[in-house]
Amino acid sequence: MPHYTLLIGGEHVDTSESYDVVSPGNGEVIATVAKGGVEHVDLAVAAAERAFKESGWRETPAHVRADVVEKAVEQIGARAAEISELSARENGTPIRLAGGLSVGFPIMHMQYFAGLARTFVADRPAYANGSVTGIIRNEPIGVVAGIIPWNFPLLLAVWKAVPAILAGNSIVLKVDEKTPSTAFVLAEILSDCGLPAGVLNIITGDGETVGGHLTAHPRVRKISFTGSTATGRTVMRNAAANVKQVTLELGGKGANIVLPDADLDLAVDGTLWGFLMHAGQACESGTRLFVHDSIYDSFVERLVKRASELTVGDPTDPATDIGPVMNAAQRARIESLIDSAFEEGATLEYQGKPSATAHEAGQFVPPTIFTNVTSSMRVAAEEVFGPVLSVMRFSDVDAVVEEANNTEYGLASGVWSRDIAAATEIAGRLEAGTVWINDWHSLPGPLPFGGHKQSGFGREMGPNAITAFTNEKVISIDQSGRGARAAWSLVLP
Ligand code: NAD
Repeated sequence: MPHYTLLIGGEHVDTSESYDVVSPGNGEVIATVAKGGVEHVDLAVAAAERAFKESGWRETPAHVRADVVEKAVEQIGARAAEISELSARENGTPIRLAGGLSVGFPIMHMQYFAGLARTFVADRPAYANGSVTGIIRNEPIGVVAGIIPWNFPLLLAVWKAVPAILAGNSIVLKVDEKTPSTAFVLAEILSDCGLPAGVLNIITGDGETVGGHLTAHPRVRKISFTGSTATGRTVMRNAAANVKQVTLELGGKGANIVLPDADLDLAVDGTLWGFLMHAGQACESGTRLFVHDSIYDSFVERLVKRASELTVGDPTDPATDIGPVMNAAQRARIESLIDSAFEEGATLEYQGKPSATAHEAGQFVPPTIFTNVTSSMRVAAEEVFGPVLSVMRFSDVDAVVEEANNTEYGLASGVWSRDIAAATEIAGRLEAGTVWINDWHSLPGPLPFGGHKQSGFGREMGPNAITAFTNEKVISIDQSGRGARAAWSLVLP
């Protein structure tokens, strides 16, 4: 059975305690991973700082850094089957989906980041005024901390580590102990492709103590965090200790609005994809569905019919559409929200069942659709992070926009309509970092991703993905050297 050890300064560091890595599809322990403590945070930060100062990586031209990342892309592609299998076994991602979600997306985004690095210009001339000229320089920040959850472990490791290192920084990445393997694969591949030791360090450990120590660490200059809104608040407080830069990608409660003129077949399938992809364990899931009164009955009927065609079960089986949720704790949390929907008077419109071959120790929550939901019910107000949909009816567009915005979350929303101009006008009024029109979950690298309101701030991907990991510096040059004296002469005799 694999045992993953921490990666600090290029060395594999084992610890006295370890975590079991449990497959959500069948309850088997499939690996163990070393459990880090605050001392490992200190070692990893020191290693990252040493690498930043001494490895030569920060002085390496950006296009050469891009070469390393592009070589790594080839190796990830060559190991696609292994990574997909790890994702299915460790994360419960259905194997048919894993090739795209756990390999294709990371590759596509790494290629995008490498392309950005090729055109990255660190120094830009800013002005020329008489004898004074100025340069604006984007330089690496230093030691960056990346903290990721368990739902998309390789993709999120890529979003944190790759732009950070392409900008010339070093990073300490704290991975979730439930899904550690693919970040170690990424580190191994980057190292093989020429990334100096210590530029990427990987640790695990208790979120509150290890994550807390990392985010408060005085030598860490920037935090890029993905996780829940509650933890995001703590991270922000910790970061205040030495005024670190912070990017927070937090939770969501996506509103999905279906207008009467939508292509209903596409909207039904898009809605299912929007709340069921990866068993609903995506921050950008569309879990609040608003359907126009005039199409409501037929839409719900089609939705239930299509949902009933899905196979819930073993994530390693290519016949499976929906896999398990992450673990018993997640399942219990989702089931308690399902219970609350019953208690608060929602109607269960549909609930699937695990297939006959699904393992009895698997953490299955089948697709669940509630109607007669109101926005104040817990199931419609809280982030479920599971395959549960709250369906609501509307007749007035202004009212539905207000209802859609009636949440502290603001990550993603969607509108379905054949009238693109009308849908775009509604998109403009929705409080969300991303609004999909006739689509859901597509995240092309060139488009920045992040939240409004309590879904966080700062952006990943998009044209500023690398500059987000830099500090801006102005170098102002007076060729004559007389500017300061001229200014002084205004006040000095
Ligand atoms: P979580 O906040 O509990 O944990 C996320 C990470 O933070 C883990 O690595 C954890 O160990 C660490 N952590 C926990 N406490 C910490 C602390 N006090 N200081 C520093 N680090 C700490 O989240 P989770 O339940 O594991 O993940 C699911 C959440 O992540 C959901 O809310 C989901 O919406 C969100 N998410 C957001 C995005 C996005 O891009 N916006 C993407 C994926 C997931």
